[in-house]
Amino acid sequence: MRLSWEIELQCSQCGAPISLEETDRLLTCSYCHVKLYLWTPSQFCYCLPALKASSENLIFIPYWRFKGVAYSVIPFEVRHRILDATLLASSHRMLPVTLGIKPQALKLRFASGEIQGTFIKPQMSLQEAVMLIQKQFQVLEGSLLNQPPFHREFIGELGSLVFFPVFVRNGAIVDGILGKAIGPEKDLVLDEAPSGIPDHWQIRPMSTLCPNCGNALKGGRESILLFCTSCHVAWNPSSGRLVASKFEVAPGKQDSSVYLPFWRMQVAVTGITLKSYADLARLANLPKMIQSEWEEQEVYFWIPAFRVPSSLFLRLSKQMTLFQPVEKTEAVLPNAHLRPVTFSEESAAASLKIHLAHLLTKKREYFPKLHEITIGPVESTLVFIPFTSTGSELVHPQLGIGLPRQTLSL
Ligand SMILES: [Zn+2]
Ligand SMILES: [Zn+2]
Repeated sequence: MRLSWEIELQCSQCGAPISLEETDRLLTCSYCHVKLYLWTPSQFCYCLPALKASSENLIFIPYWRFKGVAYSVIPFEVRHRILDATLLASSHRMLPVTLGIKPQALKLRFASGEIQGTFIKPQMSLQEAVMLIQKQFQVLEGSLLNQPPFHREFIGELGSLVFFPVFVRNGAIVDGILGKAIGPEKDLVLDEAPSGIPDHWQIRPMSTLCPNCGNALKGGRESILLFCTSCHVAWNPSSGRLVASKFEVAPGKQDSSVYLPFWRMQVAVTGITLKSYADLARLANLPKMIQSEWEEQEVYFWIPAFRVPSSLFLRLSKQMTLFQPVEKTEAVLPNAHLRPVTFSEESAAASLKIHLAHLLTKKREYFPKLHEITIGPVESTLVFIPFTSTGSELVHPQLGIGLPRQTLSL
Protein backbone atom coordinates (compact mmCIF):
# COMPACT_ATOMS: atom_id res chain seq x y z
CA MET A 1 0.00 0.00 0.00
CA ARG A 2 1.30 3.42 -0.92
CA LEU A 3 1.62 5.93 1.90
CA SER A 4 1.29 8.95 -0.34
CA TRP A 5 -1.69 9.55 -2.55
CA GLU A 6 -1.33 9.36 -6.30
CA ILE A 7 -2.96 11.92 -8.58
CA GLU A 8 -3.53 11.65 -12.32
CA LEU A 9 -3.36 14.74 -14.46
CA GLN A 10 -3.19 15.67 -18.12
CA CYS A 11 -0.32 17.81 -19.35
CA SER A 12 -1.76 21.24 -20.14
CA GLN A 13 0.66 21.59 -23.09
CA CYS A 14 0.46 18.24 -24.89
CA GLY A 15 -2.33 16.33 -23.15
CA ALA A 16 -0.12 13.43 -22.08
CA PRO A 17 -1.02 11.72 -18.79
CA ILE A 18 1.12 12.73 -15.80
CA SER A 19 1.10 10.90 -12.52
CA LEU A 20 2.14 12.77 -9.40
CA GLU A 21 2.12 12.54 -5.63
CA GLU A 22 -0.15 14.81 -3.65
CA THR A 23 2.74 16.82 -2.25
CA ASP A 24 4.21 17.52 -5.71
CA ARG A 25 4.05 21.12 -6.87
CA LEU A 26 6.69 21.27 -9.57
CA LEU A 27 6.18 18.73 -12.31
CA THR A 28 7.75 17.85 -15.63
CA CYS A 29 5.85 16.24 -18.49
CA SER A 30 7.93 13.30 -19.63
CA TYR A 31 6.59 13.70 -23.20
CA CYS A 32 6.96 17.38 -24.03
CA HIS A 33 9.32 18.18 -21.11
CA VAL A 34 7.39 21.26 -20.11
CA LYS A 35 7.91 22.16 -16.47
CA LEU A 36 4.87 23.48 -14.64
CA TYR A 37 4.14 24.69 -11.16
CA LEU A 38 0.75 23.71 -9.75
CA TRP A 39 -1.07 26.52 -8.09
CA THR A 40 -4.51 26.98 -6.64
CA PRO A 41 -6.02 30.05 -4.98
CA SER A 42 -7.51 27.90 -2.20
CA GLN A 43 -7.07 24.23 -1.31
CA PHE A 44 -6.27 21.51 -3.81
CA CYS A 45 -9.44 19.58 -4.64
CA TYR A 46 -9.49 16.00 -5.78
CA CYS A 47 -12.10 13.51 -6.92
CA LEU A 48 -12.09 9.83 -6.22
CA PRO A 49 -12.87 7.89 -9.41
CA ALA A 50 -16.39 6.57 -9.79
CA LEU A 51 -17.45 3.24 -11.26
CA LYS A 52 -17.65 3.43 -15.06
CA ALA A 53 -21.27 2.25 -14.99
CA SER A 54 -22.30 4.96 -12.55
CA SER A 55 -20.98 7.94 -14.44
CA GLU A 56 -24.37 9.65 -14.70
CA ASN A 57 -25.93 11.79 -11.97
CA LEU A 58 -23.03 11.52 -9.62
CA ILE A 59 -23.17 13.42 -6.36
CA PHE A 60 -19.78 14.35 -4.94
CA ILE A 61 -19.56 14.43 -1.14
CA PRO A 62 -16.79 16.62 0.34
CA TYR A 63 -14.18 15.31 2.80
CA TRP A 64 -11.31 17.26 4.29
CA ARG A 65 -7.96 15.58 4.10
CA PHE A 66 -5.18 16.85 6.34
CA LYS A 67 -1.76 15.77 7.34
CA GLY A 68 0.70 17.37 9.68
CA VAL A 69 2.32 17.15 13.05
CA ALA A 70 0.53 17.79 16.33
CA TYR A 71 2.93 19.07 18.97
CA SER A 72 2.02 19.16 22.63
CA VAL A 73 4.02 20.52 25.51
CA ILE A 74 3.42 18.22 28.48
CA PRO A 75 5.19 17.62 31.84
CA PHE A 76 8.04 18.02 30.93
CA GLU A 77 8.82 17.55 27.30
CA VAL A 78 7.67 18.45 23.80
CA ARG A 79 5.78 15.53 22.30
CA HIS A 80 4.88 15.15 18.63
CA ARG A 81 2.55 12.94 16.70
CA ILE A 82 1.75 12.70 13.00
CA LEU A 83 -1.88 13.46 12.26
CA ASP A 84 -3.10 12.02 8.98
CA ALA A 85 -6.86 11.90 8.55
CA THR A 86 -9.90 12.48 6.39
CA LEU A 87 -13.17 13.81 7.79
CA LEU A 88 -16.62 14.22 6.28
CA ALA A 89 -17.11 17.96 5.68
CA SER A 90 -20.90 17.88 5.86
CA SER A 91 -23.34 16.80 8.54
CA HIS A 92 -25.01 13.80 6.90
CA ARG A 93 -25.11 11.08 9.47
CA MET A 94 -25.59 8.20 7.05
CA LEU A 95 -22.37 8.93 5.16
CA PRO A 96 -19.07 7.41 6.25
CA VAL A 97 -17.23 9.75 8.66
CA THR A 98 -13.85 9.14 7.02
CA LEU A 99 -12.68 7.87 3.63
CA GLY A 100 -10.59 5.12 5.22
CA ILE A 101 -7.95 3.74 2.89
CA LYS A 102 -9.81 4.53 -0.35
CA PRO A 103 -7.50 7.40 -1.40
CA GLN A 104 -4.40 5.23 -0.97
CA ALA A 105 -5.84 2.41 -3.02
CA LEU A 106 -7.15 4.51 -5.93
CA LYS A 107 -5.80 7.12 -8.28
CA LEU A 108 -7.27 10.55 -7.70
CA ARG A 109 -7.96 13.28 -10.21
CA PHE A 110 -7.99 17.01 -9.70
CA ALA A 111 -11.56 18.22 -9.42
CA SER A 112 -12.39 20.21 -12.53
CA GLY A 113 -15.35 21.54 -14.46
CA GLU A 114 -14.99 18.62 -16.88
CA ILE A 115 -16.17 16.16 -14.27
CA GLN A 116 -19.94 15.79 -14.53
CA GLY A 117 -21.93 15.74 -11.35
CA THR A 118 -23.23 17.70 -8.41
CA PHE A 119 -20.56 18.90 -6.05
CA ILE A 120 -21.70 19.41 -2.46
CA LYS A 121 -20.25 22.40 -0.64
CA PRO A 122 -18.32 21.64 2.56
CA GLN A 123 -20.25 22.74 5.64
CA MET A 124 -17.20 23.15 7.86
CA SER A 125 -13.84 24.73 7.19
CA LEU A 126 -10.54 22.87 7.12
CA GLN A 127 -9.60 24.60 10.38
CA GLU A 128 -12.79 23.36 12.02
CA ALA A 129 -12.09 19.81 10.85
CA VAL A 130 -8.56 19.94 12.25
CA MET A 131 -9.86 21.32 15.56
CA LEU A 132 -12.43 18.53 15.79
CA ILE A 133 -9.82 15.80 15.37
CA GLN A 134 -7.43 17.64 17.70
CA LYS A 135 -10.12 17.80 20.37
CA GLN A 136 -10.57 14.03 20.26
CA PHE A 137 -6.84 13.61 20.82
CA GLN A 138 -6.91 16.21 23.55
CA VAL A 139 -9.56 14.30 25.48
CA LEU A 140 -7.54 11.12 25.14
CA GLU A 141 -4.29 12.84 26.07
CA GLY A 142 -5.84 14.74 28.99
CA SER A 143 -7.19 11.54 30.52
CA LEU A 144 -3.79 9.86 30.18
CA LEU A 145 -1.93 12.78 31.75
CA ASN A 146 -4.59 13.93 34.21
CA GLN A 147 -4.09 17.45 32.92
CA PRO A 148 -4.32 19.24 29.60
CA PRO A 149 -1.06 20.02 27.77
CA PHE A 150 0.58 23.38 28.57
CA HIS A 151 0.56 24.23 24.90
CA ARG A 152 -0.36 22.55 21.64
CA GLU A 153 0.21 23.41 18.02
CA PHE A 154 -0.77 21.70 14.80
CA ILE A 155 1.67 22.30 11.97
CA GLY A 156 -0.07 21.33 8.74
CA GLU A 157 1.74 19.94 5.73
CA LEU A 158 -1.29 19.23 3.60
CA GLY A 159 -4.88 20.34 3.62
CA SER A 160 -7.09 19.43 0.71
CA LEU A 161 -10.65 18.65 -0.23
CA VAL A 162 -11.51 15.22 -1.57
CA PHE A 163 -14.79 14.41 -3.25
CA PHE A 164 -16.30 10.97 -2.82
CA PRO A 165 -18.85 9.99 -5.52
CA VAL A 166 -22.23 8.53 -4.68
CA PHE A 167 -25.35 8.07 -6.82
CA VAL A 168 -29.01 7.22 -6.40
CA ARG A 169 -30.39 3.86 -7.52
CA ASN A 170 -33.83 2.41 -6.66
CA GLY A 171 -34.33 4.82 -3.80
CA ALA A 172 -30.97 4.08 -2.25
CA ILE A 173 -27.73 6.04 -2.02
CA VAL A 174 -24.97 3.95 -3.55
CA ASP A 175 -21.20 4.17 -2.95
CA GLY A 176 -19.94 5.28 -6.36
CA ILE A 177 -16.65 3.41 -5.98
CA LEU A 178 -17.74 0.03 -4.65
CA GLY A 179 -21.31 0.03 -5.98
CA LYS A 180 -22.73 -0.88 -2.56
CA ALA A 181 -25.82 0.73 -1.07
CA ILE A 182 -25.06 3.09 1.84
CA GLY A 183 -28.57 4.05 2.94
CA PRO A 184 -32.01 5.23 1.86
CA GLU A 185 -32.20 8.20 -0.51
CA LYS A 186 -34.60 10.11 1.77
CA ASP A 187 -31.87 10.39 4.45
CA LEU A 188 -29.61 12.38 2.18
CA VAL A 189 -31.09 15.85 2.16
CA LEU A 190 -28.98 18.05 -0.04
CA ASP A 191 -29.82 21.64 0.55
CA GLU A 192 -28.28 24.44 -1.49
CA ALA A 193 -26.22 21.91 -3.40
CA PRO A 194 -24.33 23.80 -6.09
CA SER A 195 -23.69 22.07 -9.36
CA GLY A 196 -20.23 22.15 -10.84
CA ILE A 197 -17.07 23.37 -9.17
CA PRO A 198 -16.51 26.99 -8.22
CA ASP A 199 -13.86 28.52 -10.41
CA HIS A 200 -11.56 29.34 -7.51
CA TRP A 201 -11.13 25.65 -6.70
CA GLN A 202 -9.43 24.78 -9.93
CA ILE A 203 -5.71 24.34 -10.32
CA ARG A 204 -3.81 26.70 -12.56
CA PRO A 205 -0.48 25.45 -13.82
CA MET A 206 2.14 28.22 -13.95
CA SER A 207 5.18 28.62 -16.14
CA THR A 208 8.49 28.02 -14.42
CA LEU A 209 10.67 30.28 -16.54
CA CYS A 210 12.43 33.15 -14.80
CA PRO A 211 10.41 36.37 -15.38
CA ASN A 212 13.72 38.28 -15.55
CA CYS A 213 15.90 36.23 -17.86
CA GLY A 214 13.73 33.42 -19.23
CA ASN A 215 15.93 30.63 -17.89
CA ALA A 216 14.37 27.56 -16.30
CA LEU A 217 13.89 27.96 -12.56
CA LYS A 218 15.28 25.38 -10.18
CA GLY A 219 13.43 23.54 -7.47
CA GLY A 220 12.37 20.13 -6.26
CA ARG A 221 9.04 18.36 -6.73
CA GLU A 222 7.69 19.74 -3.45
CA SER A 223 9.32 23.17 -3.63
CA ILE A 224 7.45 26.21 -2.39
CA LEU A 225 10.16 28.58 -3.69
CA LEU A 226 11.92 28.44 -7.07
CA PHE A 227 15.39 29.79 -7.81
CA CYS A 228 17.03 31.38 -10.81
CA THR A 229 20.73 30.62 -10.63
CA SER A 230 21.44 32.99 -13.55
CA CYS A 231 20.10 36.20 -12.04
CA HIS A 232 20.19 35.05 -8.40
CA VAL A 233 16.57 35.57 -7.53
CA ALA A 234 14.26 33.47 -5.34
CA TRP A 235 10.73 33.36 -6.74
CA ASN A 236 7.67 32.76 -4.60
CA PRO A 237 4.67 31.38 -6.56
CA SER A 238 2.22 31.31 -3.62
CA SER A 239 0.13 34.25 -4.85
CA GLY A 240 -0.41 32.79 -8.32
CA ARG A 241 2.40 34.74 -9.92
CA LEU A 242 6.14 34.71 -9.34
CA VAL A 243 7.17 37.28 -6.75
CA ALA A 244 10.83 37.88 -5.94
CA SER A 245 11.60 37.15 -2.31
CA LYS A 246 14.72 37.76 -0.28
CA PHE A 247 17.30 35.16 0.65
CA GLU A 248 20.89 35.01 1.87
CA VAL A 249 23.64 32.43 1.49
CA ALA A 250 26.40 31.76 4.02
CA PRO A 251 29.83 31.30 2.42
CA GLY A 252 30.75 27.71 1.64
CA LYS A 253 34.01 25.81 1.67
CA GLN A 254 35.63 23.82 -1.12
CA ASP A 255 34.02 20.65 0.14
CA SER A 256 30.54 22.03 0.80
CA SER A 257 28.23 19.59 -0.89
CA VAL A 258 24.74 20.77 -0.06
CA TYR A 259 23.17 24.01 1.13
CA LEU A 260 20.31 23.61 3.59
CA PRO A 261 17.71 26.40 3.83
CA PHE A 262 16.63 27.85 7.18
CA TRP A 263 14.19 30.59 8.19
CA ARG A 264 16.14 33.05 10.31
CA MET A 265 13.55 34.84 12.43
CA GLN A 266 13.97 37.85 14.56
CA VAL A 267 11.24 37.58 17.19
CA ALA A 268 9.22 39.68 19.59
CA VAL A 269 8.68 37.89 22.89
CA THR A 270 6.48 38.80 25.86
CA GLY A 271 6.07 37.02 29.18
CA ILE A 272 9.72 35.95 29.36
CA THR A 273 12.95 37.92 28.91
CA LEU A 274 14.48 37.05 25.56
CA LYS A 275 15.98 40.11 23.92
CA SER A 276 19.63 39.19 23.51
CA TYR A 277 21.91 36.23 23.02
CA ALA A 278 22.80 36.53 26.74
CA ASP A 279 19.10 36.01 27.62
CA LEU A 280 19.01 32.97 25.36
CA ALA A 281 22.17 31.57 26.98
CA ARG A 282 20.55 31.94 30.41
CA LEU A 283 17.22 30.35 29.36
CA ALA A 284 18.96 27.43 27.69
CA ASN A 285 21.61 27.25 30.42
CA LEU A 286 24.47 27.15 27.92
CA PRO A 287 27.61 25.69 29.44
CA LYS A 288 29.61 28.81 28.50
CA MET A 289 30.53 31.93 30.44
CA ILE A 290 28.15 34.72 29.46
CA GLN A 291 30.17 37.48 27.85
CA SER A 292 29.19 41.12 28.28
CA GLU A 293 28.84 41.76 24.52
CA TRP A 294 26.18 39.05 24.35
CA GLU A 295 23.86 41.39 26.26
CA GLU A 296 23.78 43.56 23.11
CA GLN A 297 23.78 40.74 20.56
CA GLU A 298 20.56 40.32 18.56
CA VAL A 299 18.96 36.88 18.86
CA TYR A 300 17.37 34.92 16.00
CA PHE A 301 15.45 31.68 15.81
CA TRP A 302 16.67 29.33 13.07
CA ILE A 303 14.03 26.96 11.77
CA PRO A 304 14.56 24.39 9.00
CA ALA A 305 12.87 25.48 5.76
CA PHE A 306 12.79 21.89 4.55
CA ARG A 307 10.65 19.08 5.86
CA VAL A 308 12.35 16.58 8.15
CA PRO A 309 11.03 14.16 10.78
CA SER A 310 9.80 16.05 13.86
CA SER A 311 12.53 14.97 16.27
CA LEU A 312 15.20 16.17 13.83
CA PHE A 313 13.20 19.34 13.17
CA LEU A 314 13.27 20.19 16.88
CA ARG A 315 16.93 19.26 17.30
CA LEU A 316 18.18 21.18 14.25
CA SER A 317 16.29 24.28 15.23
CA LYS A 318 17.60 24.11 18.80
CA GLN A 319 21.19 23.61 17.70
CA MET A 320 21.11 26.36 15.09
CA THR A 321 19.36 28.79 17.45
CA LEU A 322 21.83 28.13 20.27
CA PHE A 323 24.81 28.54 17.94
CA GLN A 324 23.45 31.70 16.26
CA PRO A 325 25.48 31.54 13.03
CA VAL A 326 26.80 35.08 12.55
CA GLU A 327 28.86 34.69 9.38
CA LYS A 328 28.48 37.35 6.76
CA THR A 329 25.98 36.28 4.11
CA GLU A 330 25.27 37.42 0.56
CA ALA A 331 22.39 36.99 -1.88
CA VAL A 332 24.35 34.96 -4.43
CA LEU A 333 23.36 31.40 -5.19
CA PRO A 334 26.26 28.91 -5.19
CA ASN A 335 26.89 26.46 -7.98
CA ALA A 336 26.04 23.55 -5.69
CA HIS A 337 23.08 21.48 -4.61
CA LEU A 338 20.42 23.59 -2.91
CA ARG A 339 18.05 21.65 -0.72
CA PRO A 340 14.52 22.57 -1.95
CA VAL A 341 12.48 24.82 0.32
CA THR A 342 9.47 22.74 1.39
CA PHE A 343 8.53 24.24 4.77
CA SER A 344 6.85 27.63 4.64
CA GLU A 345 7.64 30.80 6.54
CA GLU A 346 4.09 30.75 7.99
CA SER A 347 4.52 27.21 9.33
CA ALA A 348 7.94 28.14 10.73
CA ALA A 349 6.40 31.14 12.50
CA ALA A 350 3.60 28.95 13.89
CA SER A 351 6.20 26.58 15.35
CA LEU A 352 8.18 29.27 17.25
CA LYS A 353 6.64 28.60 20.65
CA ILE A 354 7.30 24.88 20.30
CA HIS A 355 10.98 25.58 19.60
CA LEU A 356 11.14 27.98 22.54
CA ALA A 357 9.63 25.33 24.85
CA HIS A 358 12.11 22.76 23.51
CA LEU A 359 15.18 24.84 24.32
CA LEU A 360 14.16 26.04 27.80
CA THR A 361 16.17 24.32 30.50
CA LYS A 362 13.97 25.08 33.51
CA LYS A 363 10.94 23.31 32.09
CA ARG A 364 9.19 22.93 35.46
CA GLU A 365 9.41 26.64 36.06
CA TYR A 366 8.48 27.86 32.57
CA PHE A 367 6.07 25.30 31.09
CA PRO A 368 3.17 26.24 33.43
CA LYS A 369 3.67 29.87 32.29
CA LEU A 370 3.73 29.09 28.57
CA HIS A 371 0.18 30.32 28.05
CA GLU A 372 1.29 33.80 29.18
CA ILE A 373 4.23 33.83 26.78
CA THR A 374 3.81 35.16 23.27
CA ILE A 375 6.38 34.85 20.51
CA GLY A 376 6.08 35.99 16.91
CA PRO A 377 8.34 36.94 14.04
CA VAL A 378 9.32 40.56 13.47
CA GLU A 379 11.38 39.82 10.41
CA SER A 380 12.43 36.65 8.63
CA THR A 381 14.93 35.76 5.95
CA LEU A 382 15.66 32.54 4.14
CA VAL A 383 19.32 31.64 4.69
CA PHE A 384 21.18 28.79 3.01
CA ILE A 385 23.87 27.19 5.18
CA PRO A 386 26.53 24.98 3.56
CA PHE A 387 26.97 21.44 4.86
CA THR A 388 29.65 18.89 4.06
CA SER A 389 29.07 15.25 3.34
CA THR A 390 31.05 12.72 5.40
CA GLY A 391 29.92 9.17 4.71
CA SER A 392 26.44 8.73 6.10
CA GLU A 393 26.25 12.21 7.63
CA LEU A 394 25.95 15.82 6.63
CA VAL A 395 27.97 17.98 8.95
CA HIS A 396 28.71 21.57 9.71
CA PRO A 397 32.00 21.36 11.64
CA GLN A 398 32.04 24.96 12.91
CA LEU A 399 28.50 24.69 14.23
CA GLY A 400 29.04 21.15 15.49
CA ILE A 401 25.86 19.97 13.76
CA GLY A 402 25.43 16.63 12.06
CA LEU A 403 22.40 15.00 10.52
CA PRO A 404 21.94 11.64 8.82
CA ARG A 405 21.98 11.92 5.02
CA GLN A 406 19.34 9.20 4.92
CA THR A 407 16.64 11.46 6.40
CA LEU A 408 17.12 13.82 3.46
CA SER A 409 17.27 10.94 0.96
CA LEU A 410 20.42 12.33 -0.61
ZN1 LIG B 1 3.36 17.53 -22.06
ZN1 LIG C 1 16.70 34.71 -14.13
